[in-house]
Amino acid sequence: MAATGHASINSRGGVSTLVDRWPLLGQRRALVIYLCAIVVLDLVAIVLFALATRFRGADALTFAALMGCGAVCIEATRRLGMPAGVSRDLLSAWWLPVALLLPPVYALFAPIVLQILLQVRVRATVLYRRVFSSAAIGLAGCAASVLFHRLVEDPAALLRGNGSTIIYAVAAAVLFSLLNIALIAVAAHMANPDVPWGEVLWDRESVLLDIVELCLGITVSISCGLNLGLLLLALPPVVLLQRSLLHAQLQAAARTDAKTGLLNAAAWQREADTEIVRARRTGGTLALLIIDIDHFKRVNDAHGHLVGDQVLVGVASTLRSQLRDYDVVGRFGGEEFVVLLPGADMHEARRVAERLRTHIGHMAVPVDDTLIKVTISTGVALMSVHGDDLIDLLAAADLALYRAKELGRDRVCIPAVQPPRRPLPEDTA
Ligand code: GH3
Ligand code: MG
Ligand code: MG
Repeated sequence: MAATGHASINSRGGVSTLVDRWPLLGQRRALVIYLCAIVVLDLVAIVLFALATRFRGADALTFAALMGCGAVCIEATRRLGMPAGVSRDLLSAWWLPVALLLPPVYALFAPIVLQILLQVRVRATVLYRRVFSSAAIGLAGCAASVLFHRLVEDPAALLRGNGSTIIYAVAAAVLFSLLNIALIAVAAHMANPDVPWGEVLWDRESVLLDIVELCLGITVSISCGLNLGLLLLALPPVVLLQRSLLHAQLQAAARTDAKTGLLNAAAWQREADTEIVRARRTGGTLALLIIDIDHFKRVNDAHGHLVGDQVLVGVASTLRSQLRDYDVVGRFGGEEFVVLLPGADMHEARRVAERLRTHIGHMAVPVDDTLIKVTISTGVALMSVHGDDLIDLLAAADLALYRAKELGRDRVCIPAVQPPRRPLPEDTA
């Protein structure tokens, strides 16, 4: 989800490739106009608020101290690396105090400083993403700051623990989050209209992080308002939290196929193994599907690899949207996908495989002024019938897939029935 106060344009998976992968010219233009409008709005806000602000040395010092803490956080986590695409940080622990304690213009400056640091010290990403991110964060922070200063005559009341002032600070922080999420989500949705709004806006894990950031931001605001030196006490726990958050994200990234967002082959095998052991222990049924895109090489040859990649992403998102949460779906490699269906018998597995075939067959990826369509072939194997462990099931499903290809593609096949074993004399003895 877009992050509170520090949502960057690649905070949500879909946005990371934004303009580059965007297939339809009309949509691309609309997105570019939107991005430019937000940046221009930010620049206008900077000029207007700068003209209306009486700059004071004490404010500049607080601003510099908070940005210094942000810089230390960035440096302290830099060596861990950054997960590709989706990334979250806790930098709003530093710019929420900027919004609450200082005049609104500082909230517009803060993300510019930290995004430059991120760009220079962590990862040089496409410039327009950084510019848009800092504009979106800046505008959200500025709105929160304006709201807080309208509601509260004396921000110092926050430092006395005044109840209503703290509630107003929370309200401003919530506004900060919501605006930031909305600004990023609009861009994410324009970049990829197929992703439902719910998915762009809502993600339980991110909401939890937003709440943590809000608590951190307000706590840091109170301490640094009391005494700038207290920032030295706030810094270590925030750095530690930031490092563990990044660690968790890197772990998740190591399980994921970067192109499609599905599990990668190694992670899928681990999860599939766990499900198979569970099914064996409980005596439950389980089915395995291997799905291969038909004549995928032709798509690459005719339209290029980038378009081929878009088809892979489309197939992956159709698979995910058509399967249950507890089905295990992964990219096995190239244009092959694997699905484990816990609890499915042969009838159910075939039904699911046919549904996937139909949906992917109807899927159309727009490229220039044409629509690309693909079909899939699927091999199905059932636990206890075609194999008892992952290797056997994969081998059986692979054979079935081979049959589907031989029979003309765009179909679902099960392995050819094994001839019944002739009883050996010792069986009947
Ligand atoms: P079949 O119906 O027999 O499966 O034919 P096919 O063309 O799909 O199969 P083949 O194995 O001949 O070609 C697979 C192609 O998939 C070749 C390879 O370049 C392409 N491919 C593999 N990984 C990727 C990828 O990540 N992106 C893109 N764009 N293409 C990929
Ligand atoms: Mg293949
Ligand atoms: Mg293929």
